[in-house]
Amino acid sequence: MNIVEKDRKYVWHPFTQMKTAGDPLHIERAKGIYLYDDNGNAIIDAVSSWWVNLHGHGHPYIAGAIKEQALNLEHVIFAGFTHTPAVTIAERLLSYLPHQSKVFFSDDGSTAVEVALKMCIQYFHNQDIPRRRIIALEEAYHGDTFGAMSAGGDCGFNGPFNDYFFQVEHIPAPIPGSEEASLTALRKELDKGDVCCFIFEPLIQGSGGMRMYSPEILDKMIGMVHEAGALCIADEVMTGFYRTGKMFASDYLTNKPDCMALSKGLTGGTLALSITTCTEKIYEAFLSDDKSKTFFHGHSFTANPIGCAAAIASLDLLEKEECQSNIRMIVEMHSEFLKELEAHPKATNARQRGTIIAFEFETGKETSYFNSIRDTLYHFFLERGVLLRPLGNVVYIMAPYVISKEELEKIYGLIREALDSI
Ligand SMILES: *Cc1c(COP(=O)(O)O)cnc(C)c1O
Repeated sequence: MNIVEKDRKYVWHPFTQMKTAGDPLHIERAKGIYLYDDNGNAIIDAVSSWWVNLHGHGHPYIAGAIKEQALNLEHVIFAGFTHTPAVTIAERLLSYLPHQSKVFFSDDGSTAVEVALKMCIQYFHNQDIPRRRIIALEEAYHGDTFGAMSAGGDCGFNGPFNDYFFQVEHIPAPIPGSEEASLTALRKELDKGDVCCFIFEPLIQGSGGMRMYSPEILDKMIGMVHEAGALCIADEVMTGFYRTGKMFASDYLTNKPDCMALSKGLTGGTLALSITTCTEKIYEAFLSDDKSKTFFHGHSFTANPIGCAAAIASLDLLEKEECQSNIRMIVEMHSEFLKELEAHPKATNARQRGTIIAFEFETGKETSYFNSIRDTLYHFFLERGVLLRPLGNVVYIMAPYVISKEELEKIYGLIREALDSI
């Protein structure tokens, strides 16, 4: 048996209907923005391997940091113990987040969201303040664990579990055209009282279809939530680390969140690690001589030193002028291409925020995540050496920052070709 045959025999893949899915591609290695399959084909990773990769694959600087850390201290229990990589990444990240005060480590985006929700719930519980209600946005995606699914929008994936979710009030996202509906719904929920927290993906709802909205409207909403005495959680798992053109989407805001969830790009996309940050006010509500007020949460691999070392190395690269100027180049190239998309009759709702550009591929038919246009487009691009993974009929580009002008042009060219030929 070759690897793909063995894969079919032994392995169950994520978000995959194993009965009808074609064979997975066997990737043998990756370098920069290219994935190489077992036939030696080079594929541009234009989705950053599910939005995680920032600096390209196999980056020698991050790989070196990982190797060095693995030989020095691969892991140690993080209750009662600490280590330099964890403290260093905490200090450096908080220097970007003057409104945040503490860092709590976990393993992935979903658990970072769980931690944020638990912090907000217990924040009120510890003070004997009866606030239980949670508000989230429709079409939101916060991960696949139960708390994260509860906060997520009704997306067609969660049918079997719906009965097990805790109650979350979903209000329309303030995307263009829905701002008033969103504000009205938020006002109504806040007026009912007892709101604990409001969780949102700032500026871009990723999995929901790269739905973008303005900082001004989010500022207004955060202001309303704070005025009502409730907390705000910015799920920056996807938007963090310059995806939106700034270090964090929250950097566009005047009103700052109380908690932030970070993962995906945190390690440059090399290892699973996540961070939840919170304000001093939240942290202090857990300080007590009463042990029951402790935050009883932690994972086996909390603050894994190798993951932290990768995160430090990724941050080093991110802060380099070379990376910053390439990010600016991507933003500028996208905004030129955006004008072209806006003029194309088959590309509707073209939009961009920072390094992310998206549009809807008009088919004239009703569309959803399960639409076959998604598969047609996916294979069209893949056969031509580019990995793009449309969300339903939403085509988007989210490339590693090391992509070149020529490589971006190649992707734009294929999108043009798809728009004109499919
Ligand atoms: C991907 C994602 C998550 C979940 O992260 P995992 O690492 O897949 O658990 C949570 N929130 C947002 C906004 C995401 O894009």
